[in-house]
Amino acid sequence: MRRGCTAAALWLLALAAAWAPPASAAAPRFDACVRVLADPGVDSGVADDCRRALAQAWPAMVAEVWPIDGARPRFEIRLMTTAGFRALHRDRIADWGVGLAAGDRAWVDVERSLGGGRSAAHVTVHEAVHCLLHQALPGVAGVPAWFHEGLAQDLSGEWRFRDTVSLILDGRVPDLASLETGFPADARRADQAYRTGLLAVQSLRAWHGHDAVPRLVTAARRDGDFRAAMREVTGAEPSAFRERFAGSVRLRFGWLVAATRWPTFFVLLAAAAAVGIVARRRRDRRRFAALDDHALRPPEIEAEDQ
Ligand SMILES: [Zn+2]
Repeated sequence: MRRGCTAAALWLLALAAAWAPPASAAAPRFDACVRVLADPGVDSGVADDCRRALAQAWPAMVAEVWPIDGARPRFEIRLMTTAGFRALHRDRIADWGVGLAAGDRAWVDVERSLGGGRSAAHVTVHEAVHCLLHQALPGVAGVPAWFHEGLAQDLSGEWRFRDTVSLILDGRVPDLASLETGFPADARRADQAYRTGLLAVQSLRAWHGHDAVPRLVTAARRDGDFRAAMREVTGAEPSAFRERFAGSVRLRFGWLVAATRWPTFFVLLAAAAAVGIVARRRRDRRRFAALDDHALRPPEIEAEDQ
């Protein structure tokens, strides 16, 4: 009886061990994968902030972008002054660019990264996501630029809800098809493109499950083609996702765009506000008049029982 119990317990333990998720055991450690170097002249406090932010973001980044057992990514991030960054990348990047990533290294201009709710730490995490994605999908065809940038925005936490609203108010949301192979060089249009990429990645998760990104990465790695991975994960051609995205943006925010494009809207808005003010004044006047009446009426004094 006792031996039977022991055998059953051992069998259950073996079963549990066989079922244990292998990903957590194989998740690569941050300090074994990433080196963050600071150039001379870079503030040491800022460099520490960047290292800390990247270490904190690492588990979420790995879970999303590196669903790979038995292999570890390796890359190096160099934190630079503006002078150093410009000297190295002047010919490769638009004037407004503050970061750049290749397969195994990235560069961040920490001095110009500050501003607009963004910090050098955000840019460091953003570029690290690019490095990780490059290494997760080596030689994979058809990885859209909007996916790269949208995921980097999402995992670095650079953008918030107000950015989505301002994207809509800025003007027409770019078509995802125009953001497949590259991003605009013009600063304002590039800004719209980044936020569109973020919205598209969030839509992927909303429509195809919270694990849509790791499933896409896994399928793209296996097939060597991101379009095939999109077909597998979304159940349709990539163009169907792009069309659904455009339609959802129109549906969710179309009224806002229409309102801001239609000058009569503002006239009506002003008229409605004026009517509201007049109505409130009248109501207030009636209330004051009622108060006056009460005030003028002589107080009623009831004789108390003796
Ligand atoms: Zn980027």
